[in-house]
Amino acid sequence: MSSPVITRFAPSPTGYLHIGGARTALFNWLYSKHTGGKMLLRIEDTDRERSTEAATAAILEGLTWLGLTWDGDAISQWERAPRHREVAEELVKAGKAYYCYASPEELDAMRELARAEGRPPRYDGRWRDRDPSEAPEGVKPVIRIKAPQTGETVVLDDVQGEVRFPNKDLDDFIILRSDGAPTYMHAVVVDDHDMGVTHIIRGDDHLTNAARQTIIYQAMGWDVPKMSHIPLIHGADGAKLSKRHGALGVEAYRAMGYLPEALCNYLVRLGWSHGDDEIMTIEQMIEWFDTKDINKGASRFDFQKLEAINGHHIRASDPETLTQALIDVLPYIEGGAELQALLNDERRAQLVAAMPGLKDRAKTLVELADGAKFLFVSRPLPLDEKAASLLNEEGCAILKAVLPQLEAAEWTAEALDAVVRAHAESTGLKLGKIAQPLRAALTGRATSPGVFDVLVVLGREEALGRIQDQAV
Ligand code: GLU
Repeated sequence: MSSPVITRFAPSPTGYLHIGGARTALFNWLYSKHTGGKMLLRIEDTDRERSTEAATAAILEGLTWLGLTWDGDAISQWERAPRHREVAEELVKAGKAYYCYASPEELDAMRELARAEGRPPRYDGRWRDRDPSEAPEGVKPVIRIKAPQTGETVVLDDVQGEVRFPNKDLDDFIILRSDGAPTYMHAVVVDDHDMGVTHIIRGDDHLTNAARQTIIYQAMGWDVPKMSHIPLIHGADGAKLSKRHGALGVEAYRAMGYLPEALCNYLVRLGWSHGDDEIMTIEQMIEWFDTKDINKGASRFDFQKLEAINGHHIRASDPETLTQALIDVLPYIEGGAELQALLNDERRAQLVAAMPGLKDRAKTLVELADGAKFLFVSRPLPLDEKAASLLNEEGCAILKAVLPQLEAAEWTAEALDAVVRAHAESTGLKLGKIAQPLRAALTGRATSPGVFDVLVVLGREEALGRIQDQAV
């Protein structure tokens, strides 16, 4: 039996969980779920200057909101520094790495020379074979890996295929700094190995790192995990993703009213496909996701498509689930806090009842909240401009005429529908002529779910009261 799959998500807590990171996390999570394995979480907080607690918290919150759970506790890379040091020293003992005492001036000169000769700046290996007894006094050395100087380092990548790096281009890079802190390159390898990671799925901006990391794995005699370097996400215009294109933190998407499962659905299709399937549930994503179907080309972020997918997921949600999703997001959306303050059991029940009519007209939870506002307003209702014009003299007279019949009606959508139709017939008015001022009086707007549903959701007393307010 092959060993269980262990993936990991390894964000650097220097900012929020951005959309590219969320996609990487999603791919790792899906692959672990698909294979019945685990996804671990490692916070790459070795850069003490740029890492913040707030960013770590935002990343954990973003993952949690998306439903991307991790196994075990999140691991801090920083806390593992002693282990990184230990491995670096082990490599020195094994003759696979060495202390380098080159001064900053020497390194500058090396760079200058390389530039003058038109070569990329590379460390020239001057301490590679020197005897430690030659070490200058009082200088704290770095540790450099003894990288192979000829041949190639090959990265076998599930997405990119066999990627070959000539070793002459990979110099003896630093694995441990003079202050004893590991470099990023080294820490990642030691951690992935110690955590038992079998599959690395990350952005293809890490592909060159993969070659250097392979050199460390080989020096330690460790198995190299399977790698999948996924193409980056570009903006709709093909340029590098920027804020303008949607390179925002996932919390911004929550505030824009996207459902987490819809965002996952959108993200999974950015760089991965399963036939022509566009809309999928989380269960289907888990069932279908495989690294071999990750696309080789960069994908483009498209807000319109995200919105359309969100609309699908909203329509596919049952009223109860959608009501809860709406309530959960109120603290994060604009104007949501006011609605939240007015929420009670009765309003919640009204929301559930109104949901079938509301969800068809909303592409986001923000639109859904807006559509549901009529449930939260109190009499006398504020009217928007269009509603006010529908409630002109003629509109109010129509309401006045139909009111007694509504007062006498049984309070079901069918009965109310029948009453209004009968009234239309007897007066020779078109149904819309009556429905429009009714809607305006009931919701303060010119658009809403079906007016008979609105009557029922509001309940007899409140609905009649709102009509009476206008039928004067
Ligand atoms: N911490 C790196 C990043 O946020 C990821 C490193 C890795 O996945 O190996 O880009």
